[in-house]
Amino acid sequence: MFTTTSIDLLPKTTTVTKKHLKKLGIETYWDLLYYFPTRYENFSIISPISQIQPGETVTLQGQIKEIKTEYTRRRLTIQKAVLEDESGQIRLVWYNQPFLVKLLEHKKVSISGNVDTYKSHLTFTPQEYEIIYSADFNTIHTGRMVPVYQQTYGISSRTIREKIYFVLQQFLESVENYEFLPEKIVNDLKLSNEKEAITQIHFPQSSKSLSIARDRIGFDEIFIRMLSSKLVKKEWEKERLSEAFHFNTNINKKINEFISSLPFKLTSSQARSVDEIINDLKKDTPMNRFLQGDVGSGKTVVAAIAAYAGFLNGFQTLVMAPTEILAVQHYETMTKLFKDYPVKIALQTQSHKTFTKKVNNNDKYHIIIGTQALISDYVDFDHVGLVVVDEQHRFGVRQRAILKKKGGHPHLLSMTATPIPRTVSLTLYSELDLSTIDELPAGRLPIKTYVVPDIKRKAGQNWIKDKIAKNSIQVYIICPLIEESESETMKSVRAATKEYEHLKKNVFSDFRVALLHGKLKGKDKDKIMQDFKEKKYDILVSTCVVEVGIDIANATIMLIEGAERFGLAQLHQLRGRVGRAEKQSYCFLFTSTNEDFLKKRLHFFAKNSSGMKLAEYDLRIRGPGDLYGTRQHGYTELRVADLTDAKLIHNAQTGVEIFMNKYNLTDFSSLKSMISTLQIDKIARD
Ligand code: ADP
Ligand code: MG
Repeated sequence: MFTTTSIDLLPKTTTVTKKHLKKLGIETYWDLLYYFPTRYENFSIISPISQIQPGETVTLQGQIKEIKTEYTRRRLTIQKAVLEDESGQIRLVWYNQPFLVKLLEHKKVSISGNVDTYKSHLTFTPQEYEIIYSADFNTIHTGRMVPVYQQTYGISSRTIREKIYFVLQQFLESVENYEFLPEKIVNDLKLSNEKEAITQIHFPQSSKSLSIARDRIGFDEIFIRMLSSKLVKKEWEKERLSEAFHFNTNINKKINEFISSLPFKLTSSQARSVDEIINDLKKDTPMNRFLQGDVGSGKTVVAAIAAYAGFLNGFQTLVMAPTEILAVQHYETMTKLFKDYPVKIALQTQSHKTFTKKVNNNDKYHIIIGTQALISDYVDFDHVGLVVVDEQHRFGVRQRAILKKKGGHPHLLSMTATPIPRTVSLTLYSELDLSTIDELPAGRLPIKTYVVPDIKRKAGQNWIKDKIAKNSIQVYIICPLIEESESETMKSVRAATKEYEHLKKNVFSDFRVALLHGKLKGKDKDKIMQDFKEKKYDILVSTCVVEVGIDIANATIMLIEGAERFGLAQLHQLRGRVGRAEKQSYCFLFTSTNEDFLKKRLHFFAKNSSGMKLAEYDLRIRGPGDLYGTRQHGYTELRVADLTDAKLIHNAQTGVEIFMNKYNLTDFSSLKSMISTLQIDKIARD
């Protein structure tokens, strides 16, 4: 079948090309069709040679009269040609493409490029060429709006374009009418034709037809993600707790007493989140709630209240943190909160083991806090009523499956300080219910944030030295971000090490400086963090591994090098490492960029302290990729849809509602396979 034809069957295609396509996530003809362009070159003006004007981008079509290679001194080659049509001639120049001589000699060609002037002569710089084999030949690289594909892994946009054109012809010939959605949804929402959309998005006839195609494809992208989420949710809602929580007046009273005994009054959004959670805990289906709130907004206490409700019902609560140090921190916080209560708390991490035997022997603890390995190794789930997951964005389908396999159907509360714009959570996380803490406890001093250009670097450093000396506060220095990949991690480790040596020797020689980076062993990392916490260092130089959620009140200055390289969400996370107590905190963004839009972003960041506002700005400017840290690849990436488009999101919601009410996925095989691809990819990323 067309949809499942492997790209191994592509004619005139080298094994290397096939391998590269697979690296892009393209396995089948169908995947190729759905590999959309990132932009287009408009080469649609075809002009006689005699009429071209400087500044134009045009396509010329004619005969190659001569073409030859010349050699330069630096072992470069130049290909010089003359192109002729009925109106005149023009010279063409290429660099280092000797194969063109044989390829183009005496041929009729179509060539797109830019017209310019050089010493009052018109010049033409070719960008794309192709040979015209016959009178009715359809050009694909020239003479039209030409799609440009993301070219990574050593495969060119041109090659991808050729392969897609080939597959598209097959599609147009062999598939008569293609629509994967129910007719009613297409009609009700006035969606344009899918087959036409796929054709036009690759090889548009005009910008109008492209825009219609993009609307349809964008809708599809959002629709299938949303539907997938909704179906997952529906599946989950079929689960039943082994034993439900009960809230009688006595228990309610105790919960209220606990809340009023806290050393502070809950903010109104904390109180609202507590209500939403307790409401879920009352049901006999497992809660699946996402608690989002800025750094310092007080999520831990909300989780503690939920855990207390669990305790009163005779259930255990598991609290899972991504790292040892965060687990320890939760342990300390919870221990303080429950100091006057008979709630017993255990810590289980690599270096703090309450339980030495696998499974069991933990009945007498009510809250068990630890890192993830905890799930599988040390806990039996007989009494677990609630699982709290902190700062683990991806606690998704796969982890739930593990819980389920262990026989548990506990309530689940995930917490994150990474704000997710509403349009994004509706689309990508709609299987989760959402609680938002959108205010900070009263009396917090906003962190003073400054953009520091190169000329002020020295003054900035001196100011910091003075602060450490006078107030004995501590400082984080974050080294510039280097994009993640195995070898890049090494690069950033090297960069950080170099920076560390430099700062220690030349800038902060009177102070105690430590270094933290991703290649250190977990144990060594924790030791450095612990020592920093115990004020054995004044300055911690680090790559961006400084833990999300780490709480060191005496560290009040955050200095970020090469700040322009970070996304705003990430900068916000980093800034959140300071400002944890009543002391005034500062964040310095060191930058040497001269790019206006980068400076503008940094100044926007300096002026805004709401994580949500920053995330929305990032989403508008940089797209969704950065929101989730790692870049998604291939099929699951949103290539067309704009996640800030509220109308689109609304339309997709309507479509999903119609589908959920009236149809069954099993009756729509293409849709079904798209969704399962999506879910497999999602699990792979979890
Ligand atoms: P986060 O949401 O980043 O995990 P935490 O739960 O660590 O934040 O809380 C940050 C600090 O704020 C803690 O020291 C906590 O005791 C305190 N806190 C939480 N809620 C309130 C409140 N309503 N009023 C005052 N302080 C609060
Ligand atoms: Mg926290």
